[in-house]
Amino acid sequence: MRKIEGLGIRNIIHTNICIIMMILVVLILTIVYKYVTYKKEVQASLEASVNVEELYNTTNREEANIKEEENKKEKDIDSNTFDWELLLVNKKHKIPENYSMELEELELTHRADKRIVEPLKQMLADARKEGLSPIICSSYRTNDKQKQLYNSKTMEYRREGYSLEDAEEMASYWVAIPGTGEHETGLAVDIVSENYQMLDEGQEKTQEQKWLIDNSYKYGFALRYPTDKKEITMINYEPWHYRYVGIENATYMKEHDMCLEEYIDYLKQFEEEEYKEIV
Ligand SMILES: [Zn+2]
Repeated sequence: MRKIEGLGIRNIIHTNICIIMMILVVLILTIVYKYVTYKKEVQASLEASVNVEELYNTTNREEANIKEEENKKEKDIDSNTFDWELLLVNKKHKIPENYSMELEELELTHRADKRIVEPLKQMLADARKEGLSPIICSSYRTNDKQKQLYNSKTMEYRREGYSLEDAEEMASYWVAIPGTGEHETGLAVDIVSENYQMLDEGQEKTQEQKWLIDNSYKYGFALRYPTDKKEITMINYEPWHYRYVGIENATYMKEHDMCLEEYIDYLKQFEEEEYKEIV
């Protein structure tokens, strides 16, 4: 009976050891499994963070490239502000004292700088081929003629009761102050429709003016005083005034919606940079 009891106890102990061993094995397996899973997760998150960093760097690099592109405005024109074609004449820039030009006859009694005559004639001829009737109504003016026009505009305002100072200031928005007008350079002409010769807003609606606004750049002429640029040009309204600047310049100005003042500022940046490089 004792022997049987002894055998029974040993069996129980043996069974318990087996259970404990199994539990231990399960525990060890679980720990190993957990460890492996943890390792994998750590690896994955490391890879992910590297990717994010790479992505971040790439995005930063792309952004930097875009900014660099924006800052680096390519000067894709071969002009400089010393070219005769880009002579800037306005209220702040008088015609240089020793400025001279060779004049050539145009239609009727008109004259212009001989360098612009050929393209001007070509432009008018091409417009006429389209069945239009553009005519030159103003071209080269002597300084005396400019004075005469300016004085008579000033007088108009004087008659309306303005002081001399105010009258002169107001006149200068319509007729350039002598010495600051492009007509004195021989590089500008006023062109109107033969059928509508008024210098007012109706002029812009004529077929001739529409054609010139669209096509003059092809011949090297720029609409000198666009109405929406009057804050810069200081000239109110002259959609009939065309200034020769050369085909390359006129095309760039038209494509980038720049008036002459803006275009010259644009070119000056490059000249300053080039100058710095030389110094
Ligand atoms: Zn004019």
